[in-house]
Amino acid sequence: MVNTVLVTGSSRGIGKATALRLAQDGYNIVLHCRSGSKGAERVKQSIENLGRQARILQFDIADRTAAENLLADVEEYGAYYGVVCNAGLARDNAFPAMSGEDWDLVVHTNLDGFFNILNPLTMPMVRRRKPGRIVVLSSASGMIGNRGQVNYSASKAGLIGACKALSLELAKRAITFNCVAPGLIETDMADEAPVEAAMKIIPARRMGKPEEIAATISFLLSEDAGYITRQVIAVNGGLC
Ligand code: NDP
Repeated sequence: MVNTVLVTGSSRGIGKATALRLAQDGYNIVLHCRSGSKGAERVKQSIENLGRQARILQFDIADRTAAENLLADVEEYGAYYGVVCNAGLARDNAFPAMSGEDWDLVVHTNLDGFFNILNPLTMPMVRRRKPGRIVVLSSASGMIGNRGQVNYSASKAGLIGACKALSLELAKRAITFNCVAPGLIETDMADEAPVEAAMKIIPARRMGKPEEIAATISFLLSEDAGYITRQVIAVNGGLC
């Protein structure tokens, strides 16, 4: 039987590269987006061209009720082998100029999104009584902090704490739980980033590619990674 993996935020960027990589690895994929349904449809077509199955869920991960309602379809399709919590956003500003709205949006999306996605899915994964995998996208910003990203750094550091705690509850069920913490990656999210300044502090002197993050996630989802849990894997060109 083919295992199924949910990849949130897979209409573009790192999530798209991850969904395609995992389809190549042989999984069926549940795609997810908020507004980018056209992008998600294109990813779905590419996955089907690889001979794997794909379907799309569309909801805002900050919306707890929508998440609960749409994720309830595991009853119909069966519980996931893997979940990649990738969807996220940033609203950068110097802290004194940061609005309450931008604080709330980033924390509600990135951190509450963790609860909204994983709370309904964890028990079905446990009841499956087979090995499982959860990967959450944190960030170098959550590990070392980043100027102008107090809200984003807080949310991404919070994800590391949540991962370390929940992995304790899941380890004896053979469900591994790890964070991947990318550095600066070539996606829409990095469009606003001060790339020239960043190059001075990234030892590899280049941005990362979404496929390089996808390759790490692919390994963490593999059978070979069954003894890796409660870790933060940094993929950042030596940034920290
Ligand atoms: P992109 O902005 O390119 O893509 C973001 C994805 O997340 C899209 O699919 C988007 O859906 C989805 N998304 C955003 N907000 C929501 C929401 N509220 N509800 C549902 N879906 C949402 O981002 P990246 O690919 O660059 O980033 C992916 C993850 O990696 C994020 O968690 C990010 O924080 C993290 N990361 C990225 C880094 C980088 O340099 N790019 C560095 C470190 C971490 P839609 O298309 O529908 O809007």
